[in-house]
Amino acid sequence: MSSIQSSNSDFFIKKEELIKENLFKVLLPLPLSGCYDYNLPPDIAVNIGDFVVVPLGNRKIVGVIWGRSDYSVDNKTGKKYDIKRIKNIQQCFDMPPLPLENIKFINWLAEYNMASLGAVLKMAMSVKQVFEPVKTQNLYVLAVNPPINFKMTKSRQLAINFIKDKPLMTAADIAKFAGISVSVVKGLADVGVLNIHAKDITIDFPQPSLTIFPPILSPEQDKAAAGLNAAVKNNQFSVKLLDGVTGSGKTEVYFEAIKQCLKSGKQAVILLPEISLSSQWLSRFKQRFATEPALWHSDMTMAKRRDTWRAVNSGAISVLVGARSALHLPFPNLGLIIIDEEHDQAFKQEEGVIYNARDMAVVRAQICQCPLILVSATPSLETMVNVKNNRYQHLHLKNRHGNASLPVVKIIDLRQDRPPRQRWISPTLENAVTETLAAGEQVLLFLNRRGYAPLTLCRNCGFRIKCPNCTAWLVEHRNNHNHNPRLECHHCGYNQKMPDKCPQCEEVDSLHACGPGVERLAEEALSLFPTAKMEIITSETINTPRSAEDFINRVMAQEINLIIGTQIIAKGYHFPMLTLVGVIDADLGLMGGDLRAGERTFQLLHQVSGRAGRAEFKGKCYIQTANPETAVIDALLRSDRDGFINGEIAQRQTTGASPFKHWAGVIISGKNQQQVDDIAQKMAQFAPYGKDINIMGPVDAPLAMLRGKHRKRFLLICHKKLSIQKIIKHWLGLIDRPSAIKITIDIDPYSFM
Ligand code: ADP
Ligand code: ZN
Repeated sequence: MSSIQSSNSDFFIKKEELIKENLFKVLLPLPLSGCYDYNLPPDIAVNIGDFVVVPLGNRKIVGVIWGRSDYSVDNKTGKKYDIKRIKNIQQCFDMPPLPLENIKFINWLAEYNMASLGAVLKMAMSVKQVFEPVKTQNLYVLAVNPPINFKMTKSRQLAINFIKDKPLMTAADIAKFAGISVSVVKGLADVGVLNIHAKDITIDFPQPSLTIFPPILSPEQDKAAAGLNAAVKNNQFSVKLLDGVTGSGKTEVYFEAIKQCLKSGKQAVILLPEISLSSQWLSRFKQRFATEPALWHSDMTMAKRRDTWRAVNSGAISVLVGARSALHLPFPNLGLIIIDEEHDQAFKQEEGVIYNARDMAVVRAQICQCPLILVSATPSLETMVNVKNNRYQHLHLKNRHGNASLPVVKIIDLRQDRPPRQRWISPTLENAVTETLAAGEQVLLFLNRRGYAPLTLCRNCGFRIKCPNCTAWLVEHRNNHNHNPRLECHHCGYNQKMPDKCPQCEEVDSLHACGPGVERLAEEALSLFPTAKMEIITSETINTPRSAEDFINRVMAQEINLIIGTQIIAKGYHFPMLTLVGVIDADLGLMGGDLRAGERTFQLLHQVSGRAGRAEFKGKCYIQTANPETAVIDALLRSDRDGFINGEIAQRQTTGASPFKHWAGVIISGKNQQQVDDIAQKMAQFAPYGKDINIMGPVDAPLAMLRGKHRKRFLLICHKKLSIQKIIKHWLGLIDRPSAIKITIDIDPYSFM
């Protein structure tokens, strides 16, 4: 592993001196490149993975025993430290260790993604409260041989009469039911009539039931389930792609694999892209297993996070569903990993430690010797390439369950079927919406843009209002609490009141909203369909499990019949009466045109169109575009997913794009533009070269300024046989840079901004 600090050269501390010490490498959950050494005093015993308290400066920190050490160098200076300065491990927690599989996983993830080992550990130790003592509660019960010579009172008699045949109870409950005060209960405990038992206060995690009868699977579902079950039973690493159109029963099929995993006494983890919005998924799980699974996402209380972490680590939780961060939890006995909507970009973490949870899950499964199931109706190109290379096994469900058929896709050519000026709904789509609403069915209008308008322009001087911190226009928002227009940056969160005159030419009433966001589309929709029961759905309007559930209930109860939504609505919802989907601007995702723009647009639009007609009603999807001849639109029209993906694969193969070559983004950022430029220039001078290495840059990043920092980018591409990490490490080793300059490495980049 890269970050082990010890080396065998330059050995000037005498070996005998070292043997007297009992040195261990301790990894701390801090952005440090490697472990620090600590001495183990004779009164403490530790093992690899144990959680220990160590001093760092004048702080005390919980870290993990990463291994033995014979001697080390100082992380900062690179020189040997004075052995006498080594500090003692102060405490070892009496709790299960970080599983060895996690340690291997952290080492691997840090090395592959060129992240600091401590920052990766931090993802596994994200709840520091797990190291606090467990809170307990006193419970009371009648002593087996109570004393006889104590002072009896009327209240005491009432209490004794009540508790005689009762199990352990709190003082408050005894007091309430016996009609006495709490101090009477405590007094009885003091004289030995009642015994006290301290019970840990923790949340219970009920075990899923394995006896609920599953639906009868169709032959193709059954075949897929058998394949998954065998993999789980065999306890062997494998990756399987469970591929099938929305509604084909993928979830039912992988529920079978979860059941098999639970039967084998192992833990299962399921990653979903938007876990806090997955209440429909959770209720299906509950139907199938009689209890909800344990959850892991950002919107949980601290107590829930703490108890969940502990229960995963102790093995008490057997199935957990979560966001990508759930992959780092300390499962001691992992038997199955499932990634639903595996193509979703939410699995790529772009901040802090940059990594792709889908790809890292492959590694985690390999380390745990368990199967990984990737699930999607529109698998990612990378996954399809692995299927073609026979690295992943392909399980295909070709039919929708029951009578449901796929929606009919119609393309609306905006060059002919034009909406009126400053309007975005074409006459054809307008008619379709009117008809659908009149038939008592529901409509979704999809526009992947939050806010009212993406750009505000001065009609007088042409000035465009930009974010002061980012290379980005400010987006107008009107749906705030006081309905006063505001301007907001979608990158850094900066916001301000809409000015009443142009900030540049000071002309009054000259500012003009350009283009639509969902709020503006809603305004148009309301004027066209005044009686519609409309609702705007974005990450602002539904952002908690409760708001998502509330929204679902209202759609189900037909309290909403016109949904205007961003991509948040594309994921997994199942509304039987929703029969028309209108895509307002199919070209939006293709602008900017990065490597995956086509693929992403196909996946998103396919997924959105899949919201239509999921029950017995036939669904329709109208796609508005000004470029109907592009491959994406054509493939959507012909429902030719495989043809589209194969075309993309062939194109990436000939151009040497990812995943046929290694790609890495290298971003230099800092407050001082000159410094950023200088370092970028220096890096260009020392850039690696060779016939199998290709470097592009430095160029200004498209987001040349982000949160007040200037940014330059390189893109490094190399042959698969080379280690891109080694090349970058060597390269960065040649560059001295001030600490104010940050270099971010993005292996297998998804964002080129
Ligand atoms: P997907 O995950 O592929 O979108 P789901 O598993 O959600 O598909 O199935 C779609 C709907 O069909 C769900 O309501 C599910 O309960 C139902 N379903 C799927 N397979 C069966 C089956 N074999 N028997 C009964 N209902 C099924
Ligand atoms: Zn900004």
